[in-house]
Amino acid sequence: MLNLVLFGPPGAGKGTQSEFLVTRYSLVHLSTGDLFRFNIKNETELGLLARSYMDKGALVPDSVTISMLEDAVNKNPDAKGFIFDGFPRTNAQAEALDSFLNGRNVSITSMIALEVEEKELKTRLLERGKTSGRPDDADPEVIQNRINTYNKETSPVKNHYDTQGKYCGVNGLGSIEEITDRLIAVIDSL
Ligand code: ADP
Repeated sequence: MLNLVLFGPPGAGKGTQSEFLVTRYSLVHLSTGDLFRFNIKNETELGLLARSYMDKGALVPDSVTISMLEDAVNKNPDAKGFIFDGFPRTNAQAEALDSFLNGRNVSITSMIALEVEEKELKTRLLERGKTSGRPDDADPEVIQNRINTYNKETSPVKNHYDTQGKYCGVNGLGSIEEITDRLIAVIDSL
């Protein structure tokens, strides 16, 4: 089973690249951001809760996020593998994911991180905000909060996979195709 964590700050291109990779490797794409937005759109209780954090650029609490992710994995019993996009975002989520997968006799194959500098992230997110309809992309203050949250709470998750020898960094600057090619080269060498 190929189980990838696609990692990187907000605006690094995780969602865009996931679209290509799921097709090429026949994987199931699980984006916690997309799952929250689906719940917001359908006005579920979970959506209402998630929104109060997302609108500020903060993380949704671990317990809620972890159980939502586990449910989503359980709904795909025939998957050949997964791309986890936007998860894990805290060390507690990484530990929960490891033990959840362990209980199914599988594990994360690799964490692949898209590396993009902060200035470029802000430009991309503001640009995306013009068309995405995402309130968290439209406001520079919320964008800054998301980047700060990433630096403080999410960036340490690298070490979790690095100590397992599973961390791979990829240059996230360039054309979409160039970056896809870099990711394919890494995945094919796993
Ligand atoms: P981006 O990576 O561009 O910030 P996402 O769609 O991955 O976009 O996430 C949007 C928001 O959803 C985050 O700012 C956060 O509030 C919430 N979120 C997504 N994934 C997680 C997670 N694993 N843990 C906690 N909150 C999350």
